[in-house]
Amino acid sequence: MTIARSAAIIGGGIGGLTLANALIRSGLSVSLYERASHYTPTSGAALSLQPNGQIPLAYIGFKDSLQKLVYPFYHWQMIDEHGKVRSTSPCFGEYVQRFGYCIGGTIRAELVDMLKAPLEQNHCLHYSHKVIDLQQDAHGVTLSFENHHEQKPVRVDLVIGADGIHSTVVEKIFSATEPPIYSKENIFYGMIDNIDEHTSIGPIATQKNTLTQCFSKGEFISYRAGNQGQFMWAATYPSNTPPLTSSDAEWTHTNNQRELNRFLTLFPSTHPVHQCAAVTDQQRLLHFGLFYRKHRSDGWHRGRICLLGDACHATLPYAGQGANMAIEDAVTLTSCLEKHQFQIEPALDEYYKKRFARTKRVVNISRYMGLFCHSQNSLLHVIRQSLYPKLMNSNAMIKIAEKELFQNCPVPMEFKKIKT
Ligand SMILES: Cc1cc2nc3c(=O)[nH]c(=O)nc-3n(C[C@H](O)[C@H](O)[C@H](O)COP(=O)(O)OP(=O)(O)OC[C@H]3O[C@@H](n4cnc5c(N)ncnc54)[C@H](O)[C@@H]3O)c2cc1C
Repeated sequence: MTIARSAAIIGGGIGGLTLANALIRSGLSVSLYERASHYTPTSGAALSLQPNGQIPLAYIGFKDSLQKLVYPFYHWQMIDEHGKVRSTSPCFGEYVQRFGYCIGGTIRAELVDMLKAPLEQNHCLHYSHKVIDLQQDAHGVTLSFENHHEQKPVRVDLVIGADGIHSTVVEKIFSATEPPIYSKENIFYGMIDNIDEHTSIGPIATQKNTLTQCFSKGEFISYRAGNQGQFMWAATYPSNTPPLTSSDAEWTHTNNQRELNRFLTLFPSTHPVHQCAAVTDQQRLLHFGLFYRKHRSDGWHRGRICLLGDACHATLPYAGQGANMAIEDAVTLTSCLEKHQFQIEPALDEYYKKRFARTKRVVNISRYMGLFCHSQNSLLHVIRQSLYPKLMNSNAMIKIAEKELFQNCPVPMEFKKIKT
C-alpha cells in the first residue's frame, strides 16, 4: 500500500498555497516550491472570489481574514459604449442571503499574503526554487531544481503540480499534451489606487459594491477590490497574436505603448476605458494573451504525481472561476487523501472523478461566454444587450450557481431548498 506522509507542491499560486494550508491541517509534511523570488501577479492583479472559493477557504481556517480582504458586490450594472448605465440588477446581494458569502473583489497579492502567513510559520515555503525535473519510482519522487549547485534534489512520497497553464509537471509526466490554445483575444488589465480621487470616470467608479460590464467591443469589466479603495478595470480585444511575452507577461514600455494606443482607438472617446487607462500608473498595467487548455480527460495523475488548478483545467477568465476552481481542487484533494487514510492511488482516483465533470463544465461555460459576449455579429449584439439584463434580473444565474454549489461544494454544506 502506497501511503503519502510527505508531499511537495510545485507552484505558489492560489491553488498551491491553498493546498499547502489544507494538507498541513490534515497532518502531512508539506513543502512548497515556487520559481519566483517573491509573489508577482501574472494574470490579473485583482480577483473576484465567489462563494465556492470562499467557503472552502473558510473551512480551512481563513473565515475571519477573508472578511477583511473581500470587497462585496451587491449590484451588477451594464453600461453602453459611452459609459451610460443601461441596466442594473441587485442580484449579487442575493448571494449573501443564500450562501452566507458574497461574490467580491480581492487584491491577489493580499490573498497570497493571507495564504502564505501560516506556511511561513511552518517553514515550508521555498521561493526561487524552479523545478526542472521529476523522477518517480516505487518508493517516492525526486524533484530537481534549476539552481542545482545550491539546491539539492528533494525526495517525497507525493507531488502535486500546481504550476499553472504552462506546467512543467504536465510536460514531464504526460507525454502527449497539446499546447495551450490561444483564444485570439488579448487583454489590457489595470489597477487604480484611490478610485475615489477619480470620480470623473463616471458611474463605474462612483457606484459602490457594483460589478460593471460592457459588451459593445470585446468585454470591459470593472470593480472595486479589497478595502483600501483599489479598483480594477480590464478590456479584451481581438488579435491574431498574443503580446510577445504572453506566457506571464507584464507591462513593458517597449512592446506595449503602441499596442495600447491602437487598442484605445477601438473604443469611442466617451468610453470609460480611455479615462481608466489615462489614470492607471504604467507599472500597474498588465497586457497579455488569453489562453486555455483542452480539458484533460486521461486522468490528472500518474503514479505519485498529480495536477491541480490551471495545470489541468486552465480556463478563460470570463466566468471568474479559475482561482475559485483551484481552491475547490485543493480542498477536494485533501479530503480524498483523508478519506483514504493517505493511500495515494485511491485518493487520486477519487479526486479526478470528483473534479473532472465540474471543472469541464466551468471551462466550457467560460469559453462560450467569451464567444457570445465578444462576438461582433450585429444580431448577436442585439440579443446580448437584451438577454444579459433579463438573465441578471430573473435570478437565473443565481439559481444555476446555487445548484452548482450545493451539488459540488467540496465542503459539507447545510442543505437549503432551492426556490424555483
Ligand atoms: C485576466 C485574468 C483574470 C482572472 N480573473 C479571475 C477571477 O476574477 N477569479 C478567478 O477565480 N480566476 C481568475 N482568473 C484565473 C486565475 O488567475 C487562475 O485560474 C489561477 O491563478 C490558477 O491558479 P493556479 O494556482 O492553478 O496557477 P497559477 O496562479 O498560474 O500559479 C502557478 C504558479 O506556479 C509557478 N511555477 C510555474 N512553473 C514552476 C516551476 N517549474 N517550478 C516552480 N514553480 C513554478 C508560477 O510561478 C506560479 O506562481 C483570471 C485569469 C486571468 C488571465
